[in-house]
Amino acid sequence: MSEHLLNAALDAAARGWHVFPLRPGTKRPALHGEATCPRTGPCADGHRKWEQRATTDPDRIRATWSHAPFNIGVATGPSGLVVVDLDMPKNNSSADTPCGVTTFTALCERTGHAVPDTYRTRTASGGTHLYFTAPPTVRLANTAGTIGELVDTRGWGGYVVAAGSTTPAGPYEALSSPVAAPLPEWLQTILKPAPARSVGPLRLPAVDGSRAALAALQAECAIVTTAPDKQRNTTLNRCAFKVGRFVAWGDLPRHVAEEAFQGAGEGRGLTAAECRATIRSALDSSIRKARPREAA
Ligand SMILES: [Zn+2]
Repeated sequence: MSEHLLNAALDAAARGWHVFPLRPGTKRPALHGEATCPRTGPCADGHRKWEQRATTDPDRIRATWSHAPFNIGVATGPSGLVVVDLDMPKNNSSADTPCGVTTFTALCERTGHAVPDTYRTRTASGGTHLYFTAPPTVRLANTAGTIGELVDTRGWGGYVVAAGSTTPAGPYEALSSPVAAPLPEWLQTILKPAPARSVGPLRLPAVDGSRAALAALQAECAIVTTAPDKQRNTTLNRCAFKVGRFVAWGDLPRHVAEEAFQGAGEGRGLTAAECRATIRSALDSSIRKARPREAA
């Protein structure tokens, strides 16, 4: 019997994290789904999914893990956790796709924040999970690609595979002491659900920017509004960078570029704060690196 899995489940529960069994050697819940619900036992009054059945009760955990060497799922929502999942590129993706750790570290640098110091685990695939305590005032759900490419989060409706679990791809291991820091304010801002905003045609204010500058701005904003889900932020960054040289040359007022990209980025579903941070840093960097017009 795998004593270490039981102990890992009890350890997690002792921290207040709600655990439930995953099928041995997998990442899939061991509890039945709604389609096969017997409407008995814990489901006598209606089906209860893993998020509701996850527990911190040591007796229930001992009873469950006495049946089989289950891997350990932590239901992030009821545990009061938000876990940032820094994933690895799939084997078949292009070789220059940065991994989630690289993307997240770059975002921290661009936005001027330290890489958060908190409980970290290594996943079976070589990715990293960063555990944070959730803010009490907002209910954060899962996100995919909102922070960056290969940077997902698990909140309500989500779970993570806890340290101590193993799949054929490898073990899940703790990389630090198991203390989750509060989710930093700037990450909360990014993860807060954006208020719905309709995507309208780009309206540029009447300005005396050069024709080439305005055409470039319009074309780059159009690219942002059609960026794939997982590349919204990197696309905004790249497009704003391209337009920055016109700002450097004095062909386009900076605020015009900022407002246009802000509208395009929010229209594509990025949060206002995320757009502001990305646009500011892209323009700063572009202006700093812009070559004289004659040389360009
Ligand atoms: Zn059920």
